[in-house]
Amino acid sequence: MTSLPVAPDTFHVFDTTLRDGAQQEGLRLTVADKLKIARHLDELGVNFIEGGWPGANPNDTAFFAAAADGELELHHAELVAFGFTRRVGAKAADDPLVQALIDARTPVICIVAKSHDEHVFRALHATLEENLEMIRDTVSHLVANGRRVFVDCEHFFDGYKSNPAYALECVRTAAEAGAEVVVLCDTNGGMLPSQMGDIVTAASAIGVDLGVHCHNDTGCAVANTLAAVDAGVMHIQGTVNGHGERTGNANIITLIANLQLKYGWSLVSEASLREATRISHAISGITNVPPNSRQPYVGISAFAHKAGLHASAIKVDANLYQHIDPTLVGNDMRMLVSDMAGRANIQLKGEELGYDLSDRELAGRITDVVKQREMDGYSYESADASFELLLREQLELGDDFFEVLSWRVLTGHEVKPEGDSEATVKLRARGEVLAYVGEGHGPVNALDMALRAALKQAYAHVDDFELIDYRVRILDQGHGTDAIVRTLIDTTDGERTWTTVGVGTNVIEASWEALYDAYRWGLTKRAVPVG
Ligand SMILES: [Zn+2]
Repeated sequence: MTSLPVAPDTFHVFDTTLRDGAQQEGLRLTVADKLKIARHLDELGVNFIEGGWPGANPNDTAFFAAAADGELELHHAELVAFGFTRRVGAKAADDPLVQALIDARTPVICIVAKSHDEHVFRALHATLEENLEMIRDTVSHLVANGRRVFVDCEHFFDGYKSNPAYALECVRTAAEAGAEVVVLCDTNGGMLPSQMGDIVTAASAIGVDLGVHCHNDTGCAVANTLAAVDAGVMHIQGTVNGHGERTGNANIITLIANLQLKYGWSLVSEASLREATRISHAISGITNVPPNSRQPYVGISAFAHKAGLHASAIKVDANLYQHIDPTLVGNDMRMLVSDMAGRANIQLKGEELGYDLSDRELAGRITDVVKQREMDGYSYESADASFELLLREQLELGDDFFEVLSWRVLTGHEVKPEGDSEATVKLRARGEVLAYVGEGHGPVNALDMALRAALKQAYAHVDDFELIDYRVRILDQGHGTDAIVRTLIDTTDGERTWTTVGVGTNVIEASWEALYDAYRWGLTKRAVPVG
């Protein structure tokens, strides 16, 4: 095995979630969103946060103004404004967009420059010399204004393949004009790791600090970045959760974790790295892009184990089945309950939820029930709350909060603000029979309204329960309208979120079952009587 490179003293982690990451389809960030994300990035411990393009985008101008006026206190990172080299045929000193970069009041400015000859001709409509002059003039003007300047060489790798001497000339010109770091960009994301080394090495000969910016179009953004690191770059760019246009940018959390845990470098503090999972999910919450459960290191499935065979070995030594200790990145090993589960899996899952299932006979019986129910179409892998209710039934813990006597729902076409559906629920709770009607948009919403209204009489706090997601899956496709469906419901009480499952050939019945479990589980956790 070859040895890994040693970290240069001045290695930079440069985050561009707020600039390049925000190019992702469907992503809209307000100034408040950007401020929140920037605080999380600072906590993560990145060295630079590229905040956007002031002057070109009013939202970004407002973000930099808010940051400079004291709304963003960074403890670790430095804020970076992004922009282009000056216009063709103008002077940097007279270009309003260059002035907007200075007006953003950031210590660092990153400008993007063309370095691919065909782009200079066909996108810029300029000569090769004019493009060099644009780089020279813009960088030296910003440096003269007291800014640290980084230069992104756009389409550098494709440019190098087209005209290596010119691509390198762009790097040299930026460095000579005062750029502190010149970043080689794989803008189209078409590179492969094996192609990175020679090109980075050729640019290294210029003697300027180099960075790399990779997109994930070949699925190699992280691998390409590491290949560039191996070839000597000392600055890496990426985005949290790999946000970015098309297939995204290099995932900065994966990069930090790889360099820290595999290369043994110290880029962020150990405490910050332990926040990585939380920060990744918090930023997902702000961008409103669902977290990728299979994201390396921080995805909820990143350390999840399914096979029964693995589970028994995990009881012996968890490290046999995981590449790192998940707590180093703030993640956790998770056992999945599934039809592949053996008794060991169920025992571990029970332990995780706080139940003692060490009794072999009891654990065996529960395993049989789980297997039977999974054959019927239930899935407990994500529905931990329904699994816990099943355990509690088997352990005879007596959760008799309420007994449903009947329910029915009417749905049809009727235009009124309360919705198109009406449900009636009759139940017995705390010795009383309660019957309530609920109206809603769709039958499930109406059932929720009726069940909630009835239960509220006995347990006032069910009003805090909020259904936040509802998913339906057809299990035996091709079966027609009598197919078995599985519904999953996510509920929150503001403090925690839980998932329940229901199954049936009738989608409303399956939904009712998940809904019923959602309220039951919530009550087992907070069964306080009405005061
Ligand atoms: Zn980019």
